[in-house]
Amino acid sequence: MNSMQRLIASGRGEPLDCVPVSPGISTYCAVKAGQPMTRVAYDPELMADVILQSLDRHGHDSVGAISDYGVVTEAMGSRSVIRDWEQTYVDRFAVKSKADVAHLRLPDPLQDGRMPVIIECQKILVAKVGNSVSVGGSIPGPLSFAANLCGPQRILYDLVDDPEMVHDLLAISVEAVNSFALAQVDHGGVRSISIFDPMITMVSNRMADEFGFAYIQPLIKSIKERNVPILFHICGDTTRLLERMIEVGTDILSVDVEVDLAEAKEIISGRASLSGNVATQNLARLGPEEIYQESCRCIEKAALGGRFTLSASCEVPLETPPENIDAMVRAAREFGREFLEKSADREV
Ligand SMILES: [Zn+2]
Repeated sequence: MNSMQRLIASGRGEPLDCVPVSPGISTYCAVKAGQPMTRVAYDPELMADVILQSLDRHGHDSVGAISDYGVVTEAMGSRSVIRDWEQTYVDRFAVKSKADVAHLRLPDPLQDGRMPVIIECQKILVAKVGNSVSVGGSIPGPLSFAANLCGPQRILYDLVDDPEMVHDLLAISVEAVNSFALAQVDHGGVRSISIFDPMITMVSNRMADEFGFAYIQPLIKSIKERNVPILFHICGDTTRLLERMIEVGTDILSVDVEVDLAEAKEIISGRASLSGNVATQNLARLGPEEIYQESCRCIEKAALGGRFTLSASCEVPLETPPENIDAMVRAAREFGREFLEKSADREV
């Protein structure tokens, strides 16, 4: 079974040779390859090269371009800070007043910002590994995207003070991320789309519905018309939101460390797959033996009956020793195989 076959079988709940593993590697692989982000972020060939180096070293089951929240928002007037050995972030925001919202222009994914770099990198990855390893695309969720247009603090105030303005901002945000997602599928050739929306756990359930899920649902519907599965990740304790995350059409729920995998598996009850949740702080801080043990505990909690991918609880931290990623992969391959064999025997 190659990685692509393993992920497809896992999504369908079919028998597996071991547990699939997609650690959540992004900027980490540039840093480990000794290539500064000030070059990698603009050079699709170099970006593909550092990703393939990580794949060669660790042998995980999926790869993706190194994306960030500025890739699209900088094409709309926000400013990204790209530093050699750091995560890229947005420090200046396109929307400073209500009037600015009306002036926002929808960018072209094939021409604007760093979107063409991401799509070109995906093309290279698909050409190199596309039949054996899954190449995935990613976008920010609309609320987190909007937060990178007007500032995360400001949007939290505006949700209360000027909800109408936030809805206007979300209307263009959802169009921008939708067209970037479709371009990644149509032009980059990716086989899945991951949506990251960390802002949703920072608001109440009612606001999560009104400003988050109400926009995510049509977004997921639109992307799924391309026949690609959707992974949806929200940071923090999303236990209260899991039901909603399933209702909007998510295929794979990616959960942070605060979510108990066994409880999540029970809530999902076969309606989607689950991905998680080796603690990112442990990846950066502990050693391979501890990470191996933690990975095994995740597998024990969630891999019964398949439909589970072992991953980090969020993006793999830059300080992570490579031996810790090796340990995660080894746990999925070795312990994962034994666990699935044993549980299959019990079912017979
Ligand atoms: Zn997260």
